[in-house]
Amino acid sequence: MGVSVSMLASGSRGNCAIVASACTKILVDAGLSCRETFRRMKIVGDDPLSLSAILITHEHSDHIYGLATLAKKLRIPVFMTGATHQAWARAMRDEHGEKPQLEKFERFESGHSFQVGDIVVKPFTIPHDAADPVGFTFRAEGIKVGIATDLGYLPVSVRDHLRGCDVLVMESNHDLEMLRVGSYPWSVKQRVMSRVGHLSNEALADFLGNDYDNSATFVVLAHLSQENNHPEIARRQAERALATRGGLFCNRLLLASQAEALQPICL
Ligand SMILES: [Zn+2]
Ligand SMILES: [Zn+2]
Repeated sequence: MGVSVSMLASGSRGNCAIVASACTKILVDAGLSCRETFRRMKIVGDDPLSLSAILITHEHSDHIYGLATLAKKLRIPVFMTGATHQAWARAMRDEHGEKPQLEKFERFESGHSFQVGDIVVKPFTIPHDAADPVGFTFRAEGIKVGIATDLGYLPVSVRDHLRGCDVLVMESNHDLEMLRVGSYPWSVKQRVMSRVGHLSNEALADFLGNDYDNSATFVVLAHLSQENNHPEIARRQAERALATRGGLFCNRLLLASQAEALQPICL
């Protein structure tokens, strides 16, 4: 069956993806409601009860909104760093007045690989304004998948982790000019543009054009801003960058969407 990646949702109103091998299925982030997660899984032909684990990148609500309910319903292990778990519990307690419990909480540390079924997961630190944010690479059956969204820039360490990926999911959050002239208050614009904010189309293009190793069969643009980006602008900029290195022919470019799940990418 090989390895598959399903982008159920991507953007500031909820992030959720599935990375699966023949016998293991991991939910990456839980930013949709439980009901919507299940609905989108069914649309792409997946049974929620077949999930093996949930992995969380960081505690921003667009990544954890549905976590408590999903964990309760599915009773599967939830993996996150200790600091992310604390920040999540604090935020949940503030809202509801009591400390949330995860029946099966598994702690990992950035930089240290761990295994979920037959998938080897490597979390790595990303620059973002959360307690202990991470990106992930996944390896199974000789296939490598990399996911890096919610990051202000691409440090050398992150670039290194993303080498050799067969599927590369990368943030292409905003067009710098659209953000500059857009309606966000200046403080929010500064936050998005900062070194711990979000990756612009331009910054991603710089990586794809100058540093990326052309290894991926599929490059997926993710976490696009609905206010400060346009799918065609993001696509064109990434295509242009890939073309400068002759990589347009070996990389299929896809755009993850907020509104609906992408058909699963199968390798
Ligand atoms: Zn996010
Ligand atoms: Zn975030």
